[in-house]
Amino acid sequence: MDLEHVSDDFTRVLYTEADIERRLQELGAQIDQDYDGKELLLIGVLNGAVMVMADLSRAMNSHCHMDWMAISSYGSGTKSSGVVRILKDLNTDISERHVLVVEDIIDTGLTLSYLLSNLASRGPASLEIMTMFRKPEALENRVDVRYVGFDIPNEFVVGYGLDFGGRYRNLKGVATLAPHVYS
Ligand code: 5GP
Repeated sequence: MDLEHVSDDFTRVLYTEADIERRLQELGAQIDQDYDGKELLLIGVLNGAVMVMADLSRAMNSHCHMDWMAISSYGSGTKSSGVVRILKDLNTDISERHVLVVEDIIDTGLTLSYLLSNLASRGPASLEIMTMFRKPEALENRVDVRYVGFDIPNEFVVGYGLDFGGRYRNLKGVATLAPHVYS
């Protein structure tokens, strides 16, 4: 879905499809370089990371494997529930593997902290994080993220995998919602 198609629903467009594509090419090249000679396992966090996983993996020029986890964090509103549960676990044994967790967005870092300690206990050779978007609170909480697409303001955003009530995931860019959509 193009941003222009539903532009009345937004107060501001943060990143277009082209902005995201350009940044992912840079990150893909960086990851290729950092993991030279190692075969990476990308772990996508469902559902939001579907778009990032698809585009980041194709921006890379080295072999990689992919697996998925689903964790509950937000409900259908805009506030973190604070409840973290594994809804779908990995199909892969990650012991001795080089793992890169692929996230859509890090807000408080609550979801990520839980996920990291859970994955670390499985004995990977290395464990790093890539997120497309990061909010300021994640910086305050010192969540150690190796690759960041964009640092964004503390606003609720939709698009590029990020939803509001299940909608907008298929939006090509990322934008802030207009109040009339959520009030
Ligand atoms: P955290 O645990 O870091 O506070 O929250 C991470 C999760 O909250 C993300 O994976 C995402 O599902 C959701 N989330 C955080 N901020 C936003 C946002 O601005 N928009 C949307 N749609 N989801 C968000």
